[in-house]
Amino acid sequence: MKSKIYVNEIGYRPNDRKVAIYCGKDAVNFQILDKTGACVLQKVSTESRYNPSTENYEVKCDFSEIKENGEYIVKVADEVSVPFVVGEDIYNHSVKSLMRFFYLQRCGTELTKEFAGEYAHPSCHNTPARIYGTDIFREVNGGWHDAGDYGRYIVAAAVTLAALFHAIENDESLLKVDMQIPESGQAMPDLLTEIRYELEWMLKMQDEATGKVYHKVTCAGFCDFIMPEYETEELVICPFSLTATADFAACMAMAVKFYAPYDKAFAERMAEAAKRAYAVMREIQVPGGFLNPEGVVTGTYEDKYELDEQYWASAEMYKAFGDELYKNEFENYVNQEVMHGYGWEDVASFGNLAYLSTSYPTDDKIADKLRKAIVDKADALMKKYEANNYEISFDEKDFIWGSNMYIAENGSHLFDAYKITGKDEYLIAAREHINYIFGKNPCNVCFITGAGTNQVYNPHHRPSAAVKKAMLGMLIGGPDSGLHDPDAVRDCAGLAPALCYTDKLLSYSTNEVTIYWNSALLMLMAQVLS
Ligand SMILES: [Zn+2]
Repeated sequence: MKSKIYVNEIGYRPNDRKVAIYCGKDAVNFQILDKTGACVLQKVSTESRYNPSTENYEVKCDFSEIKENGEYIVKVADEVSVPFVVGEDIYNHSVKSLMRFFYLQRCGTELTKEFAGEYAHPSCHNTPARIYGTDIFREVNGGWHDAGDYGRYIVAAAVTLAALFHAIENDESLLKVDMQIPESGQAMPDLLTEIRYELEWMLKMQDEATGKVYHKVTCAGFCDFIMPEYETEELVICPFSLTATADFAACMAMAVKFYAPYDKAFAERMAEAAKRAYAVMREIQVPGGFLNPEGVVTGTYEDKYELDEQYWASAEMYKAFGDELYKNEFENYVNQEVMHGYGWEDVASFGNLAYLSTSYPTDDKIADKLRKAIVDKADALMKKYEANNYEISFDEKDFIWGSNMYIAENGSHLFDAYKITGKDEYLIAAREHINYIFGKNPCNVCFITGAGTNQVYNPHHRPSAAVKKAMLGMLIGGPDSGLHDPDAVRDCAGLAPALCYTDKLLSYSTNEVTIYWNSALLMLMAQVLS
């Protein structure tokens, strides 16, 4: 039987805030025991408070006084938490496995036992792909498998890379991590090498004649739970989309400065690709945005609202190239209603960061307006954070499909406000979002595969299912009160929103993985833990 005491199962850094959550209607005495069983702290919890997200009562046990390295547990009466560590380097292993996930998702190349262990496989998806509705075939191999399936989607790829670039900007030590990939040891840092693997594929998805970018390449449907080389149905390239083309432009523009010191020609190729995509993106506007063409049923990344992608693209283009045209277009978009976010659907927050960090001249009034919008958004999140016993910026309506991505994303919004205001309260709140993901949550699960004591064993991820072992280092989707798959309905019907999670292979709505969830978490960790 699992404990009713929830902690970050990885642990805490010595000087970070440390809070455990205990389920109960009354305040409790709690103890912190060290590895020898000795009590090193005894305190009283906060008063109990009702939580609409869990439909339960909980108290907080704050043991931030514990700063000495070591292994500990929290004890309340006869109940104990899982053991956790206090130490400066507790996240190193998780960060490396979160990064290695991208390598293990590589498509169109052999993964050898030496670097991929049990997930080794021959090259996959390397036949030319049919451009939908034509007899034209195109070579688009490479890139990363997107998620639990083997599709490759530009919108998803672009936001993944954007988050990874922000992670690097906030924590350059990521570039020193030995990811144990075949190219390790070369002049280019491993993470940039890995990102380049995705960039090279994205470049293949741009039409040479027009500069427009195809939305995705997948088979017509999803395959069974097999290794990727066994998915051999015809690959289909879906039509150009505005979101893919704008996101592509933004992402390529961002990438230029990271690669210029290592490979000037590659950086120039991306600059050219970004400019061509940006110049034509508006020509692809179709009412309602991209939808799957008939006969294709893989992920749509449907997005009816395409202004935020153009907003982001114009900001990154200005930041990268300093052309007045991009500035004017961005400033024009600012006056329209855009959707702020760091997810695949709402991307304008990336645009804000680009405009506010460019070395080219900006308009003070517009910059102030952006800063105010960022702080306003964070303040709204702070209200939810203060009201939520688990100290996340969610209310009971926020546990939707991919909720863990929004947890990470909200943490980044709080960090943005910290950067602008210098107020520690935002930074502390942002860090609590990481504690939630690593186990301080009512599902009593560490949401990163292979990490913690209460682990995720059955992620909706084809290689993991084929090998019968969860690949390490994947952030899974988390609670979704919408009950969007049969397993979720069976296991979670009647549960409170924050508890609608089930560790089942077929629960794609609560237990899947994606490249852009890993990247969102890496971005937040780089921001608030460095
Ligand atoms: Zn593949």
